Amino acid sequence: MNVYLDNSATTAMAPEVIEAMLPYFAGEMGNAQSVHSFGQRAKAAIEKARREVAALINATPAEIVFVSGGTEADNLAVRGIAEAHRDRGRHIITTRIEHPAVLATCEALEGEGFRVTYLPVSKAGLVSLDDLSRAIADDTILISIMLANNEVGTIQPIDKIAGMISEARARGMDQLHLHTDAVQAVGKIPMDVAQLGVDLLSMSAHKFHGPKGIGALYVRKGTRLAKLLYGGHHERDRRAGTENVAGIVGLGKAAELARTRLSERSSGMRELRDYLESRVTSMIPRVEVNGDLDRRVPNISNMSFEGVDGESLLIAMDLKGIAVSTGSACASGSLEPSHVLQALGLTREQVRGSLRFSLGAYTTREEIDYAISVLSESAARIREMSPTEDCDLSQPAHL
Ligand code: PLP
Repeated sequence: MNVYLDNSATTAMAPEVIEAMLPYFAGEMGNAQSVHSFGQRAKAAIEKARREVAALINATPAEIVFVSGGTEADNLAVRGIAEAHRDRGRHIITTRIEHPAVLATCEALEGEGFRVTYLPVSKAGLVSLDDLSRAIADDTILISIMLANNEVGTIQPIDKIAGMISEARARGMDQLHLHTDAVQAVGKIPMDVAQLGVDLLSMSAHKFHGPKGIGALYVRKGTRLAKLLYGGHHERDRRAGTENVAGIVGLGKAAELARTRLSERSSGMRELRDYLESRVTSMIPRVEVNGDLDRRVPNISNMSFEGVDGESLLIAMDLKGIAVSTGSACASGSLEPSHVLQALGLTREQVRGSLRFSLGAYTTREEIDYAISVLSESAARIREMSPTEDCDLSQPAHL
């Protein structure tokens, strides 16, 4: 049996998405910038997708910029705001648990004269509003805080953060912008940019049963943003380059499915995730669930297995056809332990023994039952064996 429990890494495309995309690989191959009818049909398909993406997050179509994925959306948001507003300030606030697409962009900007504050998080993975309030300075131009974390699933109080920012704006700090990386949240929880109060929001199709290599950045109307790519005037001059028509159509279809099936999908995933967790924690001794148990997306469970090497467990499960992921990647040649789990305050040992299980819309109870039986048997066997050689976790974390 093959069981894919790594849906936070990527998901299978929905059959409806594949079907919607197919015509755009052959017959409907027009360039959306062309004047002839091939081009016009491609353009119409792109605009339909834009309306779907906008509807998913309660934005207007003109506020959606199609990009190549979550990484580009994050780069465009952070660098785009930094470069466009550097005359107003050089300070950026983010957190220690962001995806590298945000962290590495911030680090690059530090080399270009910007100052970055990396906020810590609690054991549950949450940022403190007091810490944030203290970090905001007169020259802060951007606050970039993810909506849901990719390793533990913790959901940050973005609406409260937005409330704090609008108070600061009311005091005259109108250069402040709020970006949220919602790559792991879209399609898992309801999303409304007006309610969230964000200026920019990143999403990526392949995390919610759409194709890889396509995503979108929501940019609130009136937001000044520098561009990353120079060329033609595509995407209202925000992102040059011939549009990936098939990808955009796929993203549009995935967005439609995410909106119309949201409650059914999330309750299905939550039920199976909670079942997995309750069986695992009752069957296997000394297991801890990481991150906030309530404020998290419905499809992620991150657990630490005391006295078990996560990599060995991952490999044992892979041999039985089950795909999961680990926060400590010493077997893959990288010695970087998870910067997220470290920021949550987990010990070296706990980080080493942690696994992430991430469910998708197509995960079944039979698959979860199979995963539970393989997991409990493998964890027991690994614990019985003499301790495996320590992987060197003395290296500093990503930050
Ligand atoms: N942000 C988060 C939170 C992610 O989990 C990911 C993907 O792992 C990304 C950004 C990058 O998205 P993409 O794979 O589309 O570049």
